[in-house]
Amino acid sequence: MSFEYPEAKILAAQLDETLKGKTIESYNLRDYEKLQKIGFLNKNLDDFRQLVGRHVLGSGSSGNTIRVRLDGAMNFMLAPEYGGVILYHKAGEEAKYHILLRFAGGDSLTVRLTSMGLVYAARDEQLNGLYMYKRDYLGAPNPVDLSAKQFSKLVACRGTQLKPIIVGKDAVMTGLSNSAFQDVLWRAGIHPHRKASELTPAKLDALYSAIKDLVEERLRLGGKDEVVDLFGKAGGYTPKMGPNMKDLCCPRCGVAVEKMAHGGGQVYFCPGCQK
Ligand SMILES: [Zn+2]
Repeated sequence: MSFEYPEAKILAAQLDETLKGKTIESYNLRDYEKLQKIGFLNKNLDDFRQLVGRHVLGSGSSGNTIRVRLDGAMNFMLAPEYGGVILYHKAGEEAKYHILLRFAGGDSLTVRLTSMGLVYAARDEQLNGLYMYKRDYLGAPNPVDLSAKQFSKLVACRGTQLKPIIVGKDAVMTGLSNSAFQDVLWRAGIHPHRKASELTPAKLDALYSAIKDLVEERLRLGGKDEVVDLFGKAGGYTPKMGPNMKDLCCPRCGVAVEKMAHGGGQVYFCPGCQK
């Protein structure tokens, strides 16, 4: 249930609208020891004290990292990359959390990481030293900011398989993970083993369009169906290809969907129409 570019963008917009102008009155951390040990939280928990008394100026996202900007040059950074639940609660409501921010008036925000991810309190001058900020804000462009021409230019001659081109630290765009990878390859009818340099210009165009369409549909439908928004509502987008297609037949050609280990994860694909 990874957060990718569309889900982060949807959540950031909701956070912007809901939290803007609110003042953080207090915070609380729970069951954080394991997360802190792995490095998913600030090493020094006292850093979170710097959030108290701050006003929320706004929120935005790049890649799959969300930045909640506060006055006093502070930021609350959220990257629930491989799974997390970020919820807004009216006074009196609550959910299981790793960190809770309570606002003046009693409403609160809870964040729970269910897999790898990051929750950070950081001053503006610390941002450039944060891995997720460097990767998502200062690195490769967001999928929507890359033109078809730029995409072809960056991808066409690469002798590598497509996954590291679309997903991960060396990708030509930021914010997409294995979920989007499986989906766009099925949409474009491309086998996961195919190398970029083997694609015809038409297939490259199909891949670029598949990425654009995927992002646009997910944004329009409120994100993936396995991810909930700030108010607990699940997204309306069901992946075209992925674990949800296990034991099913391809809706395009009728061949049984297969799974294989690929690029450090599991990938579902259709051997019938992904060539
Ligand atoms: Zn098929």
